[in-house]
Amino acid sequence: MEQFVMNTKIYMGSSCLDKMKDLPAKKAYIICDPFMAQSGKVNLITDILIEMGSSFEVFSEVVPDPTIQVVSKAIGGMNSFKPDTVIALGGGSAIDTAKAASNIYSQMGNEKLFLIAIPTTSGTGSEVTNFSVISDPQAQAKYPLRSDSMVPDAAFLDPRFTVSVPPQITADTGMDVLTHALEAYVSTNAGDFTDACAEKAVRLVWNYLARTVEEGSDMEARTHMHNASCLAGVAFNGASLGLCHSMAHALGARFHIPHGRSNAILLPHIISYNAGLEDAGEQEACGRYVAIANMLGIAAGTDKATVHGLLRHIKNLMIKIKIPQQITDLKIDKDEYEQALREMAEKALADNCTLTNPRVPKIEEIEAIYKK
Ligand code: NAD
Repeated sequence: MEQFVMNTKIYMGSSCLDKMKDLPAKKAYIICDPFMAQSGKVNLITDILIEMGSSFEVFSEVVPDPTIQVVSKAIGGMNSFKPDTVIALGGGSAIDTAKAASNIYSQMGNEKLFLIAIPTTSGTGSEVTNFSVISDPQAQAKYPLRSDSMVPDAAFLDPRFTVSVPPQITADTGMDVLTHALEAYVSTNAGDFTDACAEKAVRLVWNYLARTVEEGSDMEARTHMHNASCLAGVAFNGASLGLCHSMAHALGARFHIPHGRSNAILLPHIISYNAGLEDAGEQEACGRYVAIANMLGIAAGTDKATVHGLLRHIKNLMIKIKIPQQITDLKIDKDEYEQALREMAEKALADNCTLTNPRVPKIEEIEAIYKK
């Protein structure tokens, strides 16, 4: 790791939205999904903009796994409204739509927009990353676009938004946080700065994820999970990700599985592969997983047995928060899955996230992981 950049000003806590009044939003284009508009959550933002004397328009057509089409519709809206600020309110789908749309809008000769991200799930960390994952439904592909010009200028981590996230989505997105932190930690681009954020994120997930799933109104747990999500975002913004994400992108795009759940199902298999648990030789990443297990105090030791211990604990967490363990537990046609294996493996191999995986995979190995 040769540099560590953090461009986003992060505000946190249940009264942080007040600080929006200090920001230069005179004409704000709000990007969210239909739920945020219909549930009235967007009013928490528009009320502040009204107090600020700012004008605004709401684009509420974001879909999960946002598509090229939705991004271009949002750009169309910006072209007519001519905002100075974009406010993304929602999960990763809304934030990624806003990041891609405002970046392309600026590249079309318009002024660079001030970008505010307000996450309402504790999962993607998109509020601080230079990634935007956009889907092409025709190609059945998800593309992790990456550019520093997409990093939001400000992020508001208000845990009140997350209280309404249902248990299943809380579990899926929480496992996304764990995957981000672990992939950043074992990435070939990891360093002391990203390790610090990844380690803290893992600890917070360990202590608070099950609590948020079991009791959604537990504000202490919700607050820590929201911070964990952002910390894991900082970690992987610096260190990037790995094979779990590459495979989850291809899997999610082909079978429309929520992103966090795709990651969760794959994660134990990726840890096993990266640490070489089923091979005779030693893999470098083994020691990194051992360090995590030791840090959590769940398995002491220095070898593969310790990584097995870590895996057992991760699987137990998944059982506790009711995450399916196998693709076959989802409503997916088995034959269709078998037929898609090669194509998904090709896409995963070509995905940017594979570049920093600690073990360089062969296409046959990726296919074998999908089969497992
Ligand atoms: P999401 O944004 O797709 O939202 C999932 C569901 O949760 C939606 O139905 C939404 O309406 C609902 N929801 C969101 N907030 C809610 C709330 N407060 N209360 C009730 N319901 C709520 O899910 P996500 O997991 O946050 O984002 C997934 C997307 O982010 C995927 O496309 C994934 O590839 C991408 N992603 C991006 C990055 C990045 O760095 N840019 C990182 C990881 C994942």
